[in-house]
Amino acid sequence: MSDGTVAPTALLARAARRGVGVLALTDHDDTGGLAEAAAAAREHGIRFINGVEISVTWQAQTIHIVGLGIDPGNSVLQAGLAATRAGRTDRAKRMAAVFDTLGIGGTFEGALRLAGNPRMISRTHFARYLCETGQVKSTKDAFRRWLGTGRPCDVAQEWAGLSDAVSWINGSGGVAVIAHPGRYKLDRPQLRALLSEFRDISGAAIEVVTGSHQAHEYSLFARHAVEFGLAASCGSDFHSPQESRDLGGLPPLPAVCEPVWRRPALA
Ligand code: AMP
Ligand code: MN
Repeated sequence: MSDGTVAPTALLARAARRGVGVLALTDHDDTGGLAEAAAAAREHGIRFINGVEISVTWQAQTIHIVGLGIDPGNSVLQAGLAATRAGRTDRAKRMAAVFDTLGIGGTFEGALRLAGNPRMISRTHFARYLCETGQVKSTKDAFRRWLGTGRPCDVAQEWAGLSDAVSWINGSGGVAVIAHPGRYKLDRPQLRALLSEFRDISGAAIEVVTGSHQAHEYSLFARHAVEFGLAASCGSDFHSPQESRDLGGLPPLPAVCEPVWRRPALA
């Protein structure tokens, strides 16, 4: 419902073919796919966890906080997600203005056309538009050149506050997880500050094994999880067959980790 290319029913069929036993759907800032995904999961005998991935600004950086086991009917959570989504169209226009100055026109209209949900334009839709029009050779290349953290078209955006996102998640019965911690441009003291603040505001876990991490980061973040008393999560970060590591293809969590799916809220 945000920036994946496979609709929930087809996604669950793919997961079943790939031998997945437990799956969380975690669209960015949106829970509109959960009911369809849950129904498909029942058909396939897959244990399904309601999820979301909330865009957060922490110390002027964008961080993603995954909520697992949330109640999508919770009105405080839904108001928070609506407010978070609301800034995306204006942001997309500001991104397009930067592309215009680089001589790359039509990006707002192009990204909007590729976004199934007009209120959920993401950087991924810009990347796919650039790819489709032959201006980059892959979406990865688009992020490396234009859209990734600190690149010219990654314009400043004030997302939700960290403690707000965690309280929306916890308040709806879920657990909060820092997504792909290896992807942020944080030095060691900043990373430690994030982990201790997150733990202090009742954050539950960090992603340790994810399609967004290199193999050497699995053991690094396993150590961080243990040190900070946080549980560990595992997520493919699957967006599309062309762009992502496939579902069910990741190694297990390191044995030292406490799996987040054993936390009472998800049991
Ligand atoms: P947005 O929420 O609009 O900032 O877009 C976030 C999306 O961009 C996520 O779905 C990521 O998968 C994707 N993304 C962020 N950084 C990269 C990167 N370096 N390479 C590929 N995709 C990325
Ligand atoms: Mn995404």
